[in-house]
Amino acid sequence: MRKLELHWQILIGMVLGILFGFAMTFPDWGAGFVQDWINPFGTIFVKLLKLIAIPLILASLVKGISDLKDISKFRSIGVRTILIYIFTTVVAITIGLLLVNLLKPGQGISQETITQLTETYASDAGVTSKLEEAGRQKGSGPLQFLEDMVPDNAFRAVSDNSLMLQVIFFTIFLGISLLLIGEKAARPLKEFFDSLNEVVLKMVDLIMLTAPVAVFALLANVVVSSGDPDLLLALLKYGGVVVLGLLLMIVFYSVVVSTFTKYNPLTFLSKISPAQLLAFSTSSSAATLPVTMERVEEHIGVDKEVSSFVLPVGATINMDGTSLYQGVAAVFISQALGFELTFADQLTIVLTALLASIGSAAVPGAGMVMLVIVLESIGFPADKLAIGLALIFAVDRPLDMCRTVVNVTGDATVAMMVAKSVGKLGKPKIRNWDDHLDEVTHK
Ligand code: ASP
Repeated sequence: MRKLELHWQILIGMVLGILFGFAMTFPDWGAGFVQDWINPFGTIFVKLLKLIAIPLILASLVKGISDLKDISKFRSIGVRTILIYIFTTVVAITIGLLLVNLLKPGQGISQETITQLTETYASDAGVTSKLEEAGRQKGSGPLQFLEDMVPDNAFRAVSDNSLMLQVIFFTIFLGISLLLIGEKAARPLKEFFDSLNEVVLKMVDLIMLTAPVAVFALLANVVVSSGDPDLLLALLKYGGVVVLGLLLMIVFYSVVVSTFTKYNPLTFLSKISPAQLLAFSTSSSAATLPVTMERVEEHIGVDKEVSSFVLPVGATINMDGTSLYQGVAAVFISQALGFELTFADQLTIVLTALLASIGSAAVPGAGMVMLVIVLESIGFPADKLAIGLALIFAVDRPLDMCRTVVNVTGDATVAMMVAKSVGKLGKPKIRNWDDHLDEVTHK
């Protein structure tokens, strides 16, 4: 019998998870049951993906750079990548700002809803912890992010998932130095990292065998833990604007992929769909990274030399969906609370949302923490910040799921563009999931 393709399996797992979660909201014991007995399977899956993220970055980045054989190639890939990442993020914020100014979702929101949302969420632990975290993140000079990028202890950096940028810095440094010491001296270390790379990719394959069950558990848990349905409904227009913007971004990527790489955009979307579905289920581009890399390299045909640099960097700094959301949310909150925004304020939002999305960690809910910094940059009154966050808190998780899909799709798009521009977009190794499954299970 023909095996169902992976993305269908995951999709079925997701739909069943949502239905099951919904059914479990009826009995009193339902939510507790899902949290105690179902959710752990989702958590284990996310932990497994995170477990291999750092070894994967280490191995593939060192391999990618040292395979280049020439430092100027690395420079050209690096510069292209950063410039295209900034470009796509600015496009995303602009789309978000145009939509929110045009559709004005904040003006339609009634005073009663504002009061209700404020009473429910302003002192919620979720909102207060986001404000505290934002407080910790700022309070430092403008070059703090550069300082934070450089580790003073390589072993500490690789032992902490939140220090991914430090790992990337260390690994690039290592890779470049490996290039410089010459073939003979570099060989043992290079062979070690090559082999580590192979084995980690195999681990991704094995973990992915459990993906359909894991997303069932993750989504059932999201459904039973989501907030009051009436309040969710009140924010439908705001959520709609964010989702519309995110959909436009997917259209933008499709156009870019077909114009620059001549690749069929529908094939592109279908090849990376398992990564998108995982991004949706886990709300974390970092957890999705191993799968994004596997899809882009093996199923789309982007050479490792490119993907091994572009994707880990992208997962940490390129968050188009997050920046779009931050633009829309900042203006929505201002509209709802009657805070006037000038054109200059909106330009400030473009700049700060660009920086804030770079600074957002690739984990659930990080975009909302950095939103606080965007709001502060336009002079939003400090005493109203908690109310502002309370307004959008109820729908943050579903929107986080959607923006993470765009974050991951953006990274994959840029990987293809960079690969094409340096002649490194070839034929995929794996054409369909059946071949792949055979490979995973019979080899
Ligand atoms: N969850 C997002 C990500 O990991 C970040 C965010 O927007 O909160 O890509």
